[in-house]
Amino acid sequence: MHAVVVNQEKCPRNHPCPVVRICPTGAISQKSWNSAPEISADDCLACGKCVTSCGYGAFRFDNAGAK
Ligand code: SF4
Repeated sequence: MHAVVVNQEKCPRNHPCPVVRICPTGAISQKSWNSAPEISADDCLACGKCVTSCGYGAFRFDNAGAK
């Protein structure tokens, strides 16, 4: 069960994601600078730091049901 998910459509995929370093558990990874970041559901605490830090709003809590 994902607590926070990445909205692929909102990520511009044109820069190294700064939110990767903000996550306290290292749950966020990005394969390359032009790919969207991914979240390891097992490591995510649902603290919300990525949700409030991303300037594009690409991270959101997965409680709306819609992808
Ligand atoms: S909610 Fe917190 S623990 Fe989960 S991916 Fe975002 S910053 Fe990391």
